[in-house]
Amino acid sequence: MDYNYHAHTTRCSHATGTEESYIETAIAGGIRYMGFSDHMPHVFPDGYQSGYRVPFEQGHEYVNFIRTLRDKYSGKIELNVGFEMEYYPDYFAEMLQNAKDFGAEFLILGHHFLRQEYPNGHGVTHATSSDEDLEEYVSQVISAMETGVFTYVAHPDSLNFVGDEEQYRKQMRRICIRARELRIPLEINFLGIRRGRHYPVERFWQIAGEEQSPVTFGFDVHETEAACDIKSLPVAMELVERYHLNYIGRPQLRPL
Ligand SMILES: [Zn+2]
Ligand SMILES: [Zn+2]
Repeated sequence: MDYNYHAHTTRCSHATGTEESYIETAIAGGIRYMGFSDHMPHVFPDGYQSGYRVPFEQGHEYVNFIRTLRDKYSGKIELNVGFEMEYYPDYFAEMLQNAKDFGAEFLILGHHFLRQEYPNGHGVTHATSSDEDLEEYVSQVISAMETGVFTYVAHPDSLNFVGDEEQYRKQMRRICIRARELRIPLEINFLGIRRGRHYPVERFWQIAGEEQSPVTFGFDVHETEAACDIKSLPVAMELVERYHLNYIGRPQLRPL
């Protein structure tokens, strides 16, 4: 594995370590293609900004700083800068424009909340047994893929659904089929592996294998040691083998 396009910075307030320590760890571990994709800034209509994003005021500085590092490390690693962003129908146009204005080069979809996050959102990692929640999650991930702006879907299996098994399989299959049709990779998320989260979800990847959706890997770096998370690689490779996944390796960036 010589690539990773999922890395955060301390600007999101829940990561540690410097960008340079991430980059140097990645280079030492054999990574040749690296993307920073910190949480997209967003200001809700009443002025609220959630605490896990890059503050809006730092959007330009973030992009520009990574660009200076690209020059500094050129020849050793190919660096790109973008954002991990949700798809919220009411805010999508604005967020996309802001991402472009900040100078982002690519986006990955990380759909972290139902009901558009604020003021009454539901974090996708909190358990739900509601078929409506499942349907909303799946429909919004599919709508996001259909915009054509996302390079890949991060942790597509992050919805912590504890309801009807048949519904889960039926709905998640829609994501897997659309991903195949649109050739948008689905990410096996290494943060889920190393932190023992509820994802990667076996039954999701079983469906992805049945549908032969393109699959890629992402470290989801929030700390220096994870900038080359080779320790989690065997777990991901085992999923690839067990479910005969269509693992494509390094995803092709979709330039913004
Ligand atoms: Zn994060
Ligand atoms: Zn995420």
